Amino acid sequence: MFDEPNQNRSSAIAAGLFNPITGKLLTRTWMADQIFPELFRFYQSAENFLDKKFFYPQPLYRPFLSAEEQNEWMGLSSSEALKPYIEKVLTVSTYSNQVFDSFGGIQLRQCGFLDVSGFMGCVQRHLAANQCIVFEHFDDDQLVVHADEVVYKSCRAKKIIFCNGIGSLNSSRFEKLPIRLLKGETLTVELDEIPELIYNCGVYIVPLANKRYRVGATYETKNLTRDTTEAARMELEQKIKALIKIPYQIIAQDWGFRPTTPDRRPILGEYPESKNVIIFNGLGTKGVSLAPYFSAQLVNWLLGRGEIQPEVNIKRFKSLTSKSREVV
Ligand SMILES: Cc1cc2nc3c(=O)[nH]c(=O)nc-3n(C[C@H](O)[C@H](O)[C@H](O)COP(=O)(O)OP(=O)(O)OC[C@H]3O[C@@H](n4cnc5c(N)ncnc54)[C@H](O)[C@@H]3O)c2cc1C
Repeated sequence: MFDEPNQNRSSAIAAGLFNPITGKLLTRTWMADQIFPELFRFYQSAENFLDKKFFYPQPLYRPFLSAEEQNEWMGLSSSEALKPYIEKVLTVSTYSNQVFDSFGGIQLRQCGFLDVSGFMGCVQRHLAANQCIVFEHFDDDQLVVHADEVVYKSCRAKKIIFCNGIGSLNSSRFEKLPIRLLKGETLTVELDEIPELIYNCGVYIVPLANKRYRVGATYETKNLTRDTTEAARMELEQKIKALIKIPYQIIAQDWGFRPTTPDRRPILGEYPESKNVIIFNGLGTKGVSLAPYFSAQLVNWLLGRGEIQPEVNIKRFKSLTSKSREVV
């Protein structure tokens, strides 16, 4: 593995939240019934394997915004499809000491957060101890792709898997790969009180180490400056103030880019006309929940034990099939 952890502007910035009911309309996220069991299995076994704690399942509370929303959820809560994810529908204000929830809210289960930096640090140390990782820039121009193997400097392998996120945008090899930047900014805050659950409405408030919390995030497609902005700080502050009553102090502001795709689904499979060059990208806004399920799918496919499903298969992008770099 080649990696430049200091250049990481996505996983290293992520709050690591996972939540099966998302969006303004509070809908069950795509493939939640398959993805969430795998997420729990994967991170729990990773904790055992790496002998460290970084996976924190925790209930999440989303206050209702109106009486209509409350009514709707009283009906929806009996739906078989949503039952596994609903702890309680609260029709009266329940956490009013900490949040604005005059219409009550929905308490969700199978939620929580991954300490992404902690997890990545453990994986990197494990790989380093086994001499499997090189912390240096991978120079794509030096990769030679043959019909039956790939060669990079002194390394030879049957295949190479690119999980380089937004790094794919710097490579002429992947100029047709439809990865788009979605900028996100977050605030690190200190709170005068410990929240009873993860609160999420417009923004999430997710624990970090040292009694600090990450508040996020913004979703910006146009202003893609590589820095924090006053506009994002104001947007996040406005949303915190609408959600929590707990006094807070801002400690830091951060920014990152999510690697998204036009149809908001990951991209898996062999890069067209570059046999043995495999892509695992496009995790977008939900890398923590999508990565365990789809990395397993990719591995099964590589080992000839299964297929890549059409919604995430790279073959769905017809524009990719013309004139990419040729096989030697
Ligand atoms: C502000 C923000 C908040 C987010 N919050 C959440 C959240 O709460 N929950 C969630 O599930 N997701 C969240 N995300 C999304 C999540 O971070 C992404 O889905 C995920 O990080 C993508 O992971 P990745 O491994 O594909 O890419 P990356 O994390 O970008 O990893 C790619 C790695 O490849 C390396 N690399 C690239 N090119 C080269 C090269 N040439 N040589 C060597 N190394 C190279 C990079 O340095 C990097 O370390 C958030 C993202 C942002 C920006």
